[in-house]
Amino acid sequence: MDDRGRIRKILNLLYKAYGKPRPLKLSDPVDELIRTVLSQNTNDRNSLGAFAILKKSFRSWEGLVKTDTARVARLIRHAGLANIKARRIKGVLKEIEKRETKITLAPLKKMEVAEAVQYLRTLKGVGPKTAACVLLFSFGKAVMPVDTHIFRVTKRLGLIRNNIDIETAHETLTGLVPKDLIYGFHLGIIEHGRRTCRARNPTCGVCILYSLCKFRRKVQSAKRKTKT
Ligand code: SF4
Repeated sequence: MDDRGRIRKILNLLYKAYGKPRPLKLSDPVDELIRTVLSQNTNDRNSLGAFAILKKSFRSWEGLVKTDTARVARLIRHAGLANIKARRIKGVLKEIEKRETKITLAPLKKMEVAEAVQYLRTLKGVGPKTAACVLLFSFGKAVMPVDTHIFRVTKRLGLIRNNIDIETAHETLTGLVPKDLIYGFHLGIIEHGRRTCRARNPTCGVCILYSLCKFRRKVQSAKRKTKT
């Protein structure tokens, strides 16, 4: 079976186990960008809490740009790395305002994926995951955001190389997963990484992807070697 066939099989099993995700409801792209910056190195509860405070504190993102960085940092302190994130958010918003004369990412809608990725990646502090989140969740473009769960689980499944870097993992998985399955695959693998294929002690014995997993096979053969 080729990789695309395995991906379809994996996704069917994930849907059976965790259910099909709700249809994608497109988010505002600038909101998505800020939410993703806030989510770096913290959990959803902290980053979403910080985002809600920002939304409540400013009637427009132009207002945030005019605000002292120290105040922005105080508002988002629950998300951690507050000074860095405050500087990053202000910098990114300022740059968008400079390019578009107002804070909007609407022009991305008409761009091809590669051009849209390039647009976002040339904003200081925007990495491959942030760019992919904005393009997938706000425009429905076929780009795979690779978070820590997806990076780990797809390596174990043998869909990407073990020694791959995160940048290349984005490109490889975006090219490998059929366009119409990217959203479902993204959510399903994250769920699997949280519930079963955890970083420490993955519960391979009860894993629905057991027969499709290369890491599991390696564990088995390593055990066999030590026994003989
Ligand atoms: S068999 Fe183990 S390593 Fe492979 S996907 Fe399942 S839990 Fe993860």
